[in-house]
Amino acid sequence: MDDRPPVIIGAGPAGSRAAATLAAAGLAPIVLDEAPRSGGQIYRRAPAGFTRPYRALYGFEAAKARRLHDAFDRLAGKIDYRPDTLVWDLRQGALHCLSGGQSRAVPYRDLILAPGARDRIIPFPGWTLPGIYALGGAQIALKYQGCAIGTRIVFMGTGPLLYLVAYQYAKAGAMVAAVLDTAPFAAKRRALPGLLRGGAIFAKGLWYVAALRARGIMVANGVRPVAAEGDAAVSALLYRDAAGRERRLSCDAIAFGFGLNSETQLADLAEIPFIFDPVQQQFLPERDIGGRTPVRSVYLAGDGSGIAGADAAELSGERAALALLEDRGHDVARPRIATLERKLRDIAGFRVALETAFPFPADIAAGMSDETILCRCEAVTAGEFRRAAGALKAGEINRAKAFSRCGMGRCQGRVCGPAAAIVLAAALNLPPERIGRLRGQPPVKPIPMAVA
Ligand SMILES: Cc1cc2nc3c(=O)[nH]c(=O)nc-3n(C[C@H](O)[C@H](O)[C@H](O)COP(=O)(O)OP(=O)(O)OC[C@H]3O[C@@H](n4cnc5c(N)ncnc54)[C@H](O)[C@@H]3O)c2cc1C
Repeated sequence: MDDRPPVIIGAGPAGSRAAATLAAAGLAPIVLDEAPRSGGQIYRRAPAGFTRPYRALYGFEAAKARRLHDAFDRLAGKIDYRPDTLVWDLRQGALHCLSGGQSRAVPYRDLILAPGARDRIIPFPGWTLPGIYALGGAQIALKYQGCAIGTRIVFMGTGPLLYLVAYQYAKAGAMVAAVLDTAPFAAKRRALPGLLRGGAIFAKGLWYVAALRARGIMVANGVRPVAAEGDAAVSALLYRDAAGRERRLSCDAIAFGFGLNSETQLADLAEIPFIFDPVQQQFLPERDIGGRTPVRSVYLAGDGSGIAGADAAELSGERAALALLEDRGHDVARPRIATLERKLRDIAGFRVALETAFPFPADIAAGMSDETILCRCEAVTAGEFRRAAGALKAGEINRAKAFSRCGMGRCQGRVCGPAAAIVLAAALNLPPERIGRLRGQPPVKPIPMAVA
């Protein structure tokens, strides 16, 4: 048996459960996370010293958040937990980690990648105005810092997070001007039989919508953003309602997002092959239900391997840790593995219903106006991107990036890449899977020049 400690990237639900599983088997994994405290996105902890109660911070998820946090805290002394540590590169068997302004290499043999997800963005005219946030960013401001992003806020986009964050703002006392969902009502009706399989999760979703309406907040389906307006900062959102009528809502902040994208750059640097997932409409690293990848000793867990939510993240974290243990020659409990896999399959079925209810509005990206800033890091408009790609006959997203600089800035295409692929696919009249995906590049997140 090889007793070198495995390394886990991410201390969210997936990484936390993986760490607990490995620790229970007598291994002391290294757990790296760029955040100052464990918990990940959904169970993000407030800064030390903040005293808001669990119920106020996590609502229905308070008991789960406490259980996960307590379980992780009990691992102290049994794992090597390194918070405030950003893994910015992975090459030749080592992770390159930035912590305290210094980069150090952490060699690994067995690795569990559990880096979670980020908001899925589709640029629309005016989206770079001050006062406009991703939904997740708006939630972090509220959950972590106890701040609202504005005094009159429009929530726009689609997916469960849209309603959850709008509800959290309304409950915190912020003025929610409207919740505008791009998904048509008919899509939700169509998804109903599958959604009902979600039990409590579906019931919570209905409750959020009812609670928003009970507060007199307008909730509209089937909308399309037209433009954010404003001079120094956003002052209104122009949109088309389901009947195609143009409407204007005054506001001083907009939170928007169209679901989530898995964080896959580290998987890419680990040379895991990718395949196009037709349900989630994105390229994902290959793995089996146990989290094993075609690259030996590298495992995937949680939303970083495909969006499935917090409960699935915990289950897949445990499952990946059991796969790792099994591959190291430990005895593992077969019945437990069977239970984990059955639950993961059930959640995957519910996920299909969610994607049906909240379809990704690819048409917004495909029809993006030429003037819209597509890549804000490099200030490349959709028109410049189309022209550069067209003139130089780039039929693949990485070539289009080289010709246009779209995706070459600080975010390395994490924000604009998925939308840029759809813009290119539409311009060439090809399906998005033919356009490919932006290859992961180090640094996977911005770091100081002096470090690289
Ligand atoms: C902004 C945001 C808010 C969300 N809020 C909710 C919510 O309120 N309710 C809900 O049901 N779902 C929410 N989700 C979905 C939610 O993320 C998941 O379902 C769940 O948290 C997934 O767990 P995970 O362990 O896979 O990933 P996460 O919880 O995202 O944890 C991943 C961890 O990896 C760390 N990490 C990532 N990259 C690196 C790196 N390169 N180096 C070091 N550390 C790294 C992150 O700091 C993070 O702590 C949210 C998603 C996002 C993006």
